[in-house]
Amino acid sequence: TVSLLYRINKLAPPAAPATATPKPFKPFNDRIGLYRGDITKLQIDAIVNAANNSLLGGGGVDGAIHRAAGSGLLRECRQLRGCDTGSAKITGAYNLPCKKVIHAVGPIYDSNLVKECEEDLAGCYSTSLKLAVENECKSIAFSALSTGVYGYPSNDAAPVAIRTVKEFLEGGDGDKLDKVVFCTFTQKDVDAYNHWLPHFFPPT
Ligand code: ADP
Repeated sequence: TVSLLYRINKLAPPAAPATATPKPFKPFNDRIGLYRGDITKLQIDAIVNAANNSLLGGGGVDGAIHRAAGSGLLRECRQLRGCDTGSAKITGAYNLPCKKVIHAVGPIYDSNLVKECEEDLAGCYSTSLKLAVENECKSIAFSALSTGVYGYPSNDAAPVAIRTVKEFLEGGDGDKLDKVVFCTFTQKDVDAYNHWLPHFFPPT
């Protein structure tokens, strides 16, 4: 059935090789991919880190990226002097198999400030896409920003992420990107993207 096209493996990801091209993409159209696994293994032009305001590393995907990239990344991040919530900054990738790391600072979710959270989350995605294009990246993989420690409900974050990407791809610089991948890690994000992707990118 059509919906099978949108399902990805619900099992834990297999141990990834040292470098992995993001093969398990399920295309929603030929430029959108959904992947489940460790973003640090992806051979893609840019990966997007869920960073904090300090840009000096943290837990979750941020910790994994800094560990895999090596100390050069932290050295470069120190020069950046932090980043505002809802925005992003770009660095080299050091020992990672990607070419660039974009450090986006998502909002800490607050159910009393849903509108602001949405705007900040959308700002992370749009700034990251803009930075990717400015730095000649043609492919980009996003971690599920804010949906870990920052507490953004996956089912609310996914449509913001997908809508912002869709708007960018339809805009003036959209044709400068060949591939946008949503890199999920936990089942709740897999479920959220499986639910929302077909709403924004209906099957052709
Ligand atoms: P935040 O503080 O923005 O919530 P987290 O790192 O806690 O950032 O979580 C962001 C997302 O990254 C979560 O969905 C989490 O499951 C996911 N994640 C954690 N480790 C990895 C990894 N190695 N690769 C890809 N995604 C990851």
